[in-house]
Amino acid sequence: MKHTRLGYWIEEAGDVTPRPPLGEDRDADVLIVGGGYTGMWTAWHAHVLAPEARIVILESEPVCGRGPSGRNGGFVEGMWTHMASMRDRWGAAPALAVGVAAEEAALRVGAFCTEEEGVDAWYRQAGYLEVSTAPAQDDTGHDAVDACRELGVPDKLRLVSAEDVRTHCDSPEFRAGVIESIGATVQPARLALALRRRLLEQGVEIYESSPVAHFREADDGVEATVTTGSRVRAPRGVLAIGGAARSRRGPLANRLTVASSHIIITEPVPEVVEKLGWTGGEAITDGRALVHYFRTTPDGRIAFGWGGGRIAMGARTHGRAEVDADVVDAQRRHMVEYFPELAGRRITHAWGGPIDASPTHLPAITSLKRNRAWVAAGYTGNGVGPTNMIGRSLASLALDLSDDPTRLAFIDGEMPRVPPEPFHWIGGEAIRLGIAGKEHAEQERRKPNPIASAVAKVPELLGFHIGR
Ligand SMILES: Cc1cc2nc3c(=O)[nH]c(=O)nc-3n(C[C@H](O)[C@H](O)[C@H](O)COP(=O)(O)OP(=O)(O)OC[C@H]3O[C@@H](n4cnc5c(N)ncnc54)[C@H](O)[C@@H]3O)c2cc1C
Repeated sequence: MKHTRLGYWIEEAGDVTPRPPLGEDRDADVLIVGGGYTGMWTAWHAHVLAPEARIVILESEPVCGRGPSGRNGGFVEGMWTHMASMRDRWGAAPALAVGVAAEEAALRVGAFCTEEEGVDAWYRQAGYLEVSTAPAQDDTGHDAVDACRELGVPDKLRLVSAEDVRTHCDSPEFRAGVIESIGATVQPARLALALRRRLLEQGVEIYESSPVAHFREADDGVEATVTTGSRVRAPRGVLAIGGAARSRRGPLANRLTVASSHIIITEPVPEVVEKLGWTGGEAITDGRALVHYFRTTPDGRIAFGWGGGRIAMGARTHGRAEVDADVVDAQRRHMVEYFPELAGRRITHAWGGPIDASPTHLPAITSLKRNRAWVAAGYTGNGVGPTNMIGRSLASLALDLSDDPTRLAFIDGEMPRVPPEPFHWIGGEAIRLGIAGKEHAEQERRKPNPIASAVAKVPELLGFHIGR
């Protein structure tokens, strides 16, 4: 098994020639720091809105999309499963507007991969299924189904019986669930590289191996200085740097938690996929707060992820947030519990990546002080579809447009603070272990340890939202 930071998808997508680092100073109309999906979709939308605009992306890695954007599970979701929490936080109409925008964004990702651009990123719209795997999860998604009904969009989510769930995928652990029909899967690194390629064709300037060491916002514009000292200046800018926004001097230093998610992928096992009746390509998660997620690939592999990896101290994303043998061992066991036919089958790759978790579990765009720059983060492990929506809003903001995408509720909403380090890390790890222990006991139909159960309730008491 290859256990690396970058994982299977990036290897499968193949090598590309990196773009040179920023050399001479540049002026631009829109400056974007970070070449993950958020930065690249921002550039994409900005080019559509203003084809003449000079758009510059500065990316620290040798190639764009090597962060979570090229390593994720590839679930393309709308945000209907978040509808209850969005309604409670923002009110009915603003929540509905975000639900509609997120659905449009997820479908735009599909259009990008299919007829519009002819991109082969394995896009397959087969629905997203959230299933209960223990009695404690049996009401999974019901609040979102109720909220969608209440807001007049009852067709967005559908309750499915255990019997129905088993017709999608016949795991002995699966009980009833909820289905979001617009859900799809992609090969995430192929999507990132295709987007990068199209942006370059459109004339967007991308500088790779160009870490921004200093970002300054003034009344008349923004300036980014990379580690070599070269600069880019622009009237407006966007920080799309994922979990790095949590770094000590970062714009969201005390608003985010950098957690981690890990994936293992099997050798091709088409006969197992066939036996499970999982040939439809559905994206599936269980109903845990520390979620397990699973999907298939065109050559019949099963990818099995877990969003319960270690929490980073501050924004330190390397190390066990990305490569963690203990987590991968646990995942291998969990995978065989869910899919006993995989016992003894080879796992070819394992990898992980940082999760920019927001206390609300929802992404946010936050203006810096002078309304010349915006930072976007907080996807909490659900960014493949929503980055397109956030990128659309960022594009308008960066072009100084005033349109509907600049009025969505995730812009400059309230984002609670997290405690300072090391208290945040110590508390965060205790809560993670508490939730993991409680959910594991529930899965095995044991009574959870009362201390684990009590610790698992702490985030709720602090007003933090874990799980949808
Ligand atoms: C293992 C895993 C599984 C996941 N599964 C799913 C899933 O199935 N579905 C889903 O919807 N979401 C999933 N996610 C989450 C999803 O991948 C993210 O929400 C999404 O990729 C966020 O994109 P982004 O562009 O905001 O951030 P990133 O992908 O983190 O991109 C930020 C970029 O900024 C660059 N950068 C940082 N600092 C600097 C700097 N100073 N200068 C220049 N560049 C900088 C980074 O190198 C990086 O390329 C998963 C995440 C992980 C880790």
